[in-house]
Amino acid sequence: MSAIRHALSTSREDDFAQWYQEVISEAEMAEESGVRGCMVIKPWGYGIWERIQRLMDDRIKAAGVSNCYFPLFIPLSYFAKEAEHVEGFAKEMAVVTHHRLIADGKGGLIPDPEAKLEEPLIVRPTSETVIGAAMSRWIQSWRDLPLLTNQWANVVRWEMRTRMFLRTSEFLWQEGHTAHADRDDAMNETLRALEMYRGFAEQVLAMPVIAGEKPENERFPGAVATYSIEAMMQDGKALQAGTSHYLGTGFAEASGIQYQDREGTQQYAHTTSWGVSTRLIGGLIMTHGDDDGLRVPPAVAPHQIVILPMLRENDEDEALLAYCEELHAAIAAQHALGEPIRVLLDKRPGKATQKRWAWVKKGAPLILEIGGRDAAGGQVSMLRRDRLWNDKAKANIQAMPREDFIARAAAELGDIQSSLFTEAEAKRDANIARASSFAEVEAFFSEDKRYPGWVEVEWARPTGAELEQVVQKLKALKLTMRNIPLDAEPVDGDCIFTGRPAVERIYVARAY
Ligand code: AMP
Repeated sequence: MSAIRHALSTSREDDFAQWYQEVISEAEMAEESGVRGCMVIKPWGYGIWERIQRLMDDRIKAAGVSNCYFPLFIPLSYFAKEAEHVEGFAKEMAVVTHHRLIADGKGGLIPDPEAKLEEPLIVRPTSETVIGAAMSRWIQSWRDLPLLTNQWANVVRWEMRTRMFLRTSEFLWQEGHTAHADRDDAMNETLRALEMYRGFAEQVLAMPVIAGEKPENERFPGAVATYSIEAMMQDGKALQAGTSHYLGTGFAEASGIQYQDREGTQQYAHTTSWGVSTRLIGGLIMTHGDDDGLRVPPAVAPHQIVILPMLRENDEDEALLAYCEELHAAIAAQHALGEPIRVLLDKRPGKATQKRWAWVKKGAPLILEIGGRDAAGGQVSMLRRDRLWNDKAKANIQAMPREDFIARAAAELGDIQSSLFTEAEAKRDANIARASSFAEVEAFFSEDKRYPGWVEVEWARPTGAELEQVVQKLKALKLTMRNIPLDAEPVDGDCIFTGRPAVERIYVARAY
């Protein structure tokens, strides 16, 4: 039995779903809004999203992609042009039909029948169709290609089962949309975006992922090929953390994106789209959170270091605050992970221990507690959030001279960033098994394990009815196929589903 009393009332082991909700509320990330599936994102949660936006946007722009903005409302007829696309999204579309309300005679308001729109408008669930219409105007010749655009926006998908950050009805995201002269160029872009997401997840979010192709049944509606990055959460479930689609010429044909090639012939462009959303924050919580709350990787922490003066509300406070102000300025002048260090001096009134636990639950990477004695002796007391407890189960607070801390602050933050990744990667790797028959898959998931991980199997990539059988067989065990890893070892066995020689590997897991 551990002697540690944790800051949260639910542990991951007790009830992972409830633990997740508790982290979100105790870390003040977000709260329910009163509209099902829509959340209010609070400053700490939104601050993390802003960091994700900024660092992702830098990478998007470095690849030569420009940001644009397209309307929230899309005419229904735009969707109708691409049959698979509209079919895929039809079940979850929010539709605007009226533009005015009138009194219903009973004290309420109803849509005015006189103000019915001629054509219903869809609140965008994704913007291929409206961006396609713009591309058809912007592209005439091979010289206009490739056309590389991105938009940061909110989208609405009327999800039936929602969970904060992971799956909401309205979510924030970026959607890249590009048009190319041929398949090769479009496929290169699809895989470039996937690799950008892989690097971002691992380097910035410290979240190990597997990049690969989705099986046919999991393709984006209308796509020729869909790729994803998949992360393992601490309960062993998979999270699709980002997707990149090669759309072939289907959307170009639907929207009339044509160009004249060098020989003067009209050709359809090949398009791609790729996106990551506020789901990444859910992934970050489920990857790094512990029984004391969130642990935010320094690269995305709104405040990387929090200075907590232990104010006493007496006449010593002034000297203590002066010491902390000076410390704050000295730290803010340092750089870590390629940027100025983000340090906060938390001067709010309140008991120091309560404030400490509030920052522990939020997961600020480094907390500096400064008491009167620290100030007088030129010291700081440092708490590293990723190593909260020492082996005696006491809060792992280390005292050191102020100069020593300033000299090593950047190295500590860099070390926390890489330790979080290493820890998550070790956990994931320990929970991936190989199975060489369907019976082994069944055994793996029926074992009395609280949180089973993933299995990697070899398969023959069945299609059509045969694929549907596989999907149903897995569904009976609450399992799904995640992706076909791009950098897998070659296969040498038989397909666990069909018995034919296998052609590739695929991961099977429970998923969010
Ligand atoms: P898609 O356009 O369907 O490929 O979605 C792009 C990315 O958005 C997915 O890979 C998910 O990470 C994310 N996403 C999809 N649906 C939701 C949702 N309901 N809430 C939050 N994120 C989502």
